[in-house]
Amino acid sequence: MPASKGYAALSAQSPLAPFTFSRREPGPSEIAVEILYCGVCHSDLHMAHNEWGNAIYPLVPGHEIVGRVIAAGSTVTRFKVGGIAAIGVIVDSCRLCAPCKRGEEHYCDQGATLTYAAKDRVDGSITMGGYSNNYVVDARFAHTVPANLNLAAVAPLLCAGITTYSPLRHWKVGPGMKVGIVGLGGLGHMALKFAHSFGARVVQFTTNLRKREDALKLGADEVVLSTDAAAMQAHMKSFDFILDAAAAPHSLDPYTALLKQDATMCLVGLPEKFPVVNVGNLIFKRAALSGSMIGGMPETQQMLDYCGAQNIVSEVEVIPIQKINEAYERMLRQDVKYRFVIDMSSLK
Ligand SMILES: [Zn+2]
Ligand SMILES: [Zn+2]
Repeated sequence: MPASKGYAALSAQSPLAPFTFSRREPGPSEIAVEILYCGVCHSDLHMAHNEWGNAIYPLVPGHEIVGRVIAAGSTVTRFKVGGIAAIGVIVDSCRLCAPCKRGEEHYCDQGATLTYAAKDRVDGSITMGGYSNNYVVDARFAHTVPANLNLAAVAPLLCAGITTYSPLRHWKVGPGMKVGIVGLGGLGHMALKFAHSFGARVVQFTTNLRKREDALKLGADEVVLSTDAAAMQAHMKSFDFILDAAAAPHSLDPYTALLKQDATMCLVGLPEKFPVVNVGNLIFKRAALSGSMIGGMPETQQMLDYCGAQNIVSEVEVIPIQKINEAYERMLRQDVKYRFVIDMSSLK
């Protein structure tokens, strides 16, 4: 393998800075990719600052990876040198438990191996993410990319895309359903595109009406200011499904109040502090509050293929890696439409 270089955080307090390291030669079932683009996920920021307490330093973030295959092991059939491959949030799992056998590797009983800041199951090293020039991964945990899609705008599909696609599919969102999306950030804007594409009537909730025009353009049928009590009241008990993609701390009760009988609200953003919920909003309607994370390998490929067929990608702002610390500051101010993607050719 060529030497690996990227940007790493050396501690919870330090900004990301250039860092060199090494990766193993790909084994028979593995591929090596030269990274072209890597999306910037909110969890990268949480991890770099050790806000969830599980960071391992030096920490190279990045789990929305699109690259060109530079080597493929002898048993690999899905990828050829020179082709494009995508890598998401997990890069391995036990492969033997019931969830793994079902293709739900992200819910592996033994815990899936995260793309960065996790112990590698093959060589025991600490995984280093996609803010770097290359990656080595088992082909089972890599995906093919439809040729018609813009590669920079594909990168966020690997986390923001599958995180919203999976629950919308699981709860069978489609024509005849009224679906609410809470939050219009990296995840929310993908949820909006997918829910609209699946044929549902989509209501976007926001705390900022300046996002109204954008939400309508992205596929919302209606935009509701969540702080407007009368506007919220007008939607009482009318939703079949609500996907909550807001990362900032907020009360769930105003939204569970809007669920119909037997309807579900699903959370995909992991807040630092867990909210207390009004269980009456659930009990009196047999409503459900649920959660979901990314998706398994088969479903992630299915999502990418669907995006190819429907021409769906993320809205992105492409940056050179030298602007990553500035991008983090802008994300904290919610000053991004809707995902930063690093052009890895900027890494010298
Ligand atoms: Zn992510
Ligand atoms: Zn497993």
